[in-house]
Amino acid sequence: MRVLMIAPPGAGKGTQGALIAAHFGIPHIATGELLRDHVTRRTSLGLAVQEYLDRGELVPDQVVLDMVREAMVAAKAAGGGYVLDGIPRNMEQARAAYLIARELEMTADVALHLDADDAEVTRRLLARAALEHRSDDTADVIAGRLALYHQVTAPIICWYRDRGILVPVDAMRPAQQIGREILTALDGMRPLLDSQAARAWHPGDLATLAEAFGVTGPAAAPCG
Ligand code: AMP
Repeated sequence: MRVLMIAPPGAGKGTQGALIAAHFGIPHIATGELLRDHVTRRTSLGLAVQEYLDRGELVPDQVVLDMVREAMVAAKAAGGGYVLDGIPRNMEQARAAYLIARELEMTADVALHLDADDAEVTRRLLARAALEHRSDDTADVIAGRLALYHQVTAPIICWYRDRGILVPVDAMRPAQQIGREILTALDGMRPLLDSQAARAWHPGDLATLAEAFGVTGPAAAPCG
């Protein structure tokens, strides 16, 4: 199972990514976590990216792409599955990540779009701030991260819809309910993905499957 997730901050991609990874026994490649780990360990990479994280800005593409390539190579050695969390964040990363995955013969089967509105994710992030003290969970930085999401990340959703691998998920509900729905949908898709025929599916198959398995996300936004 090869899954990537597109979601605004606070929509639950960390929680759902961990759930998917545990369910399928695949690596959870979370770029934000990997970067925060470098910051905590004060590695040279961590020192170089700390300000970007504190300000809620994207770190340079090449930094995350190098990290992701390394993690994907390890994922290939571990069986070839993965759940990508936090990348791609913009169109350049989407293209580059696709090329890395294609080179390794492990392009994503499913792009989950976890959708939740700004008011809800802001509420969740402020609640998390009280518990986790993340440097980027302050009201100002949250507003900037959301603006960045709408400006440069959300437009790539159309790219996955056009490739026929987009599965929209309504992330306005409790995490457990969302998780159950995602796992049911992915379990239902697995036979298709595992079969040879899966390699020759037509765009739209997964969208139809998403409906069949009850993944009833928000109405599709128009793609330009
Ligand atoms: P996240 O944990 O996914 O919310 O990411 C936290 C922070 O890590 C982001 O605000 C960025 O500063 C940085 N980051 C994570 N993933 C990426 C990425 N793919 N490209 C650039 N910056 C990233």
